[in-house]
Amino acid sequence: MSTQVLELIMCIIIYLIVFCFGMIIGSFLNVCIYRLPKNESLIKRSSHCMTCGEKIRARDLVPIFSWLFLKGKCHSCGEKISGRYPLVESLNALLYVWVFMQVDIAELVFDYASLANCIILCLYMSVLIVIAFIDYDTQEMHLSVLIAAALLAIPSFFLTGEYGASLKERIIGALIISVPFLILGLITGGMGMGDVVLMAAGGLLLGTKAIVVAALLGIVLAAIVGVIIKKKSGESKMAFGPYLCIGLAIAATHGTKIADWYINTFLTFE
Ligand SMILES: [Zn+2]
Repeated sequence: MSTQVLELIMCIIIYLIVFCFGMIIGSFLNVCIYRLPKNESLIKRSSHCMTCGEKIRARDLVPIFSWLFLKGKCHSCGEKISGRYPLVESLNALLYVWVFMQVDIAELVFDYASLANCIILCLYMSVLIVIAFIDYDTQEMHLSVLIAAALLAIPSFFLTGEYGASLKERIIGALIISVPFLILGLITGGMGMGDVVLMAAGGLLLGTKAIVVAALLGIVLAAIVGVIIKKKSGESKMAFGPYLCIGLAIAATHGTKIADWYINTFLTFE
C-alpha cells in the first residue's frame, strides 16, 4: 500500500475517533443545557424521560443512534424526545472533526502542542454550544459555563506563538470588544453582562484579530435574524449570545485568517 493510502486511512480512523468523542461529550452537553438553568446536579440523577420520568435504559443512551433507533420516542411512554438531543450531539461531534481537519493529522502524533491546541479548541466549541443553547432558552448565560470559557484560555497561554495569539494580543483581545460592550450595556441596557464576559474570555483565548471577527460576525448575524423575527412576529427581544457564539466558533478556527484576508483585500492601499 502506498503511503498516501495509509495516511488517508489513518486520517479517517482519527476523524472517526474524534467524532465518537464529540458525540459522547455532546451527550453530556445536553445534560448541562437542561440542568444548569434549573441549578440541578449534573451527575446525581441519571438520565430520565422528561415526560414520564422513567429512567433511560443504558442501551438507549448511545448518542445520536439511540434517538434514531427509537425514532425519537421514549421507549416507555412513547412521547416524543426532542430532536435537539441528537442535534447537539452531532453538532459537537462535527465541530470536533472540523477542528482536527485544520491541522496535519500525520504531524499531530509528534506535535503535542498542536494536539493540545486542538483539544482546547474542541472544549471551547463545547462550551460555546452550552452557552448558546442556555442563552437561547432562558436569555441568560450560566456563570459556571462562562468561567469554563475563561479557564480554557489559561492552558492556551503555554501555546502562545505558533498555535495562537501572543500574550499581548490576548490581553488586548480580552478588552477590545468586552469594554465597548460593557459601555454599551451600561448606557443602553441592551447588552447583558454575560455577553461582556463571553467576549472577554473569547479574546483571551483567541487574540485580537479573531475576537474582532467574532464580534462582527455575531452582530451581523444577530441583526439579520432580529429583522426576520421582528417582521414575522413583531418580537424585538431576543438573546444575543447564540449569535456571538456562532461568531466565536467560526473565529476560533478561521478568525485570524478572515481578518488577514479582509485587511489585505480592503485595507491595503498600494
Ligand atoms: Zn417517557
